[in-house]
Amino acid sequence: MPRLRLAAVGAVISAAAVLAFAAGCDSGTPSAASWHAQSGSGSYPGSGQGGGDPIAHPAAAPAGSTPAAKPSASASASPSASTSAAPSVSASTAPPADGIIRTTGDATVALTFDDGPGPDTPKILQMLRDQGIKATFCLIGVNVQEYPQYVQAIVKDGHTLCNHTWNHDESLGKKSADVIRADLQKTSDEIHKAVPDAQIKYFRHPGGNFTPTAVQIASDLGMKSIGWSVDPSDWNTKKWSGQQMTNHICSNVRNNTKPGSIVLSHDGGGDRSATMAAYKTLLPELKGKFTLVALPV
Ligand SMILES: [Zn+2]
Repeated sequence: MPRLRLAAVGAVISAAAVLAFAAGCDSGTPSAASWHAQSGSGSYPGSGQGGGDPIAHPAAAPAGSTPAAKPSASASASPSASTSAAPSVSASTAPPADGIIRTTGDATVALTFDDGPGPDTPKILQMLRDQGIKATFCLIGVNVQEYPQYVQAIVKDGHTLCNHTWNHDESLGKKSADVIRADLQKTSDEIHKAVPDAQIKYFRHPGGNFTPTAVQIASDLGMKSIGWSVDPSDWNTKKWSGQQMTNHICSNVRNNTKPGSIVLSHDGGGDRSATMAAYKTLLPELKGKFTLVALPV
């Protein structure tokens, strides 16, 4: 009898989970100001968040215009020229002083999804496809090894790739240069096993714990370091779950996303049903307000 009852409870719970996914954001305006207030303390540790340093974006090209290919190479090659100078304040396209890009540098908004690929990646890809939205995926090497077909799907859909280290070592940046270089190279090599000609122009340190050494090595390997300016903390599953998490993500993204934002979310690293539920509502909303872009390669 207890077993039957448990089964019934389980059925109710899974039905609720399905409903939660289907529900998306709670209707109405961003309701909880307190969530907004918490977003700072609940954010990832490290230096990935904040700031207004722009990415060198090859012109504010409208979505759909294709010739965005090469100009970034010259932009990324220049920092050495201004080494000893104080952080220059020339143009808005100047590289950020710490080498970490946290905004798109123009009015566009970039959605970024970390810690995949994982079991939920195809569903998130489908959601993006349905809305005609391109994004950026920061991939973990061991997950690439497990789900190479999802890396292929990400590339096929026209999204941008980002190296998120081999196994998400949040203190990798404090290790020796050789260790860091080997980790990033191994990760990129694994991505290239899945998609031989994949472009990997970005690096995001786990937890946003960039160090100057890690940023430099990433640059040596042809990758720009990207942080974020909006963190809805969908990774913090100890703090929120279910509809509460969904609402938190909705509220945080709605309150904080503005022209130039780089938004951090996750397609891997655990159950992403709350993230998917939130973006089911958020994607059309964001698309209506902003030009959403994959970071340029
Ligand atoms: Zn991560």
